[in-house]
Amino acid sequence: MNAESPNGSPTRHRPWAEPWKIKVVEPIRMTSRAAREVAIREAGYNTFLLRSEDVYIDLLTDSGTNAMSDSQWAAMMMGDEAYAGSRNFYHLEKTIRDHYGYRFVVPTHQGRGAENILAKIMIKPGDVVPGNMYFTTTRAHQEMAGATFADVVVREAHDPTLELPFKGNVDLDALSALIARVGANRIPYISLAATVNMAGGQPVSMANARDVHELATRHGIKVMLDATRAVENAYFIQQRESGYATKTVAEILREFCSYTDGCTMSGKKDALVNIGGWLALNDEQRYEEASNLVVLYEGLHTYGGMAGRDMEAMARGIVESVADDHIRARVGQVEYLGRKLIEAAVPVVRPIGGHAVYLDAKAFYPHLDQEQFPAQALAAHLYEDSGVRAMERGIVSAGRDKETGKNYRPALELVRLTIPRRVYTQAHMDVTAESVIEVYGKRLTARGLKLVHEPRYLRFFQARFEPL
Ligand SMILES: *Cc1c(COP(=O)(O)O)cnc(C)c1O
Repeated sequence: MNAESPNGSPTRHRPWAEPWKIKVVEPIRMTSRAAREVAIREAGYNTFLLRSEDVYIDLLTDSGTNAMSDSQWAAMMMGDEAYAGSRNFYHLEKTIRDHYGYRFVVPTHQGRGAENILAKIMIKPGDVVPGNMYFTTTRAHQEMAGATFADVVVREAHDPTLELPFKGNVDLDALSALIARVGANRIPYISLAATVNMAGGQPVSMANARDVHELATRHGIKVMLDATRAVENAYFIQQRESGYATKTVAEILREFCSYTDGCTMSGKKDALVNIGGWLALNDEQRYEEASNLVVLYEGLHTYGGMAGRDMEAMARGIVESVADDHIRARVGQVEYLGRKLIEAAVPVVRPIGGHAVYLDAKAFYPHLDQEQFPAQALAAHLYEDSGVRAMERGIVSAGRDKETGKNYRPALELVRLTIPRRVYTQAHMDVTAESVIEVYGKRLTARGLKLVHEPRYLRFFQARFEPL
């Protein structure tokens, strides 16, 4: 391999280091265990209901928690806040076209704004939307538009112990069988997520994306990408898929998107901003419909719920996000935490994903039934131990079957330790690992929870619990 990769990052045998230095800091503090016990009780044992002031290391989510660069902060002073036709929109549109390759761009305030519009323009009641595992807001919008979600992720995705490179792949046989069973005319699009959050941040291979597109196109079905973490997916392709080791992440991203017909995007993840998103499409007629609907839900089609300054920061964030040295350090930090836990024999989803380390709560608390919410309880116990805030990704997040009213019982019952981009240091990862290992040591005496308040939509955000 050459001394320098195409955009100047060191060769892979060197350890990574962050390609930036810190210019501004925000103080955080660790509270006492007694104070944390009160805080989590008042929050109904739901980490979403904690006040951020009471949190020491916040690994709730990588959504909107990014640290912006000096260039992005400078962009905040370059906002063209005209109601219509802001120059920042045209810059953003060009940047998305250049890096993701789609023809038309509709800005939205965040990812779910784009999901809402996509569902409304594509889905009719009675439709079926296949996807490589569900995502909470994505499926909610599909269902609100009258569709039923059908999971077509490879079976291996449901097994947290299998060490495979592309556990986010679509099961092509399952997809073919579904098309044969319900008919292509009832499938408006395939919802392809890269990487797959609910499977533990697992990537989709380029070959799989190509095959899905080929199969879908043969049946006249569109493929819509959830591009929220597609840059991280592109990095895994570079690292793991033959033929891609010498390509840049930017090149891989372009090729990956070329096998899809459009995307929804939460800019709060890959794109290194605190708010923003977009819907991108190649079909002009669909774009017309979307740019009309966005006026109703988000704002005019040249701002879509974002300030001009936010669009400018996102345009610059996209360019920074595809740089090989950035993404290598970002995923490298996640792997660093994951490896520490693996060395301590803590059960985590393997392989380590792109944005988070997922604790396997079923293996962590084997004495708890899934209806005693082991992952929800584990997230609460971790907070009590150290003030590290994580998130449940299991039976609470999965919600209820809209027909039977029963809890979905997902195979994966996980706690997600999500790493914000460019925010924490390795020392924060060390403290986090130490706390997880401590809680693991006390696992046999841990008790489950009971649900005492359950909101109707996306219950995990606002549900409340009490200890059993
Ligand atoms: C966060 C996320 C979304 C929704 O985006 P928001 O910006 O939070 O509305 C959709 N899909 C995936 C995979 C996500 O992680």
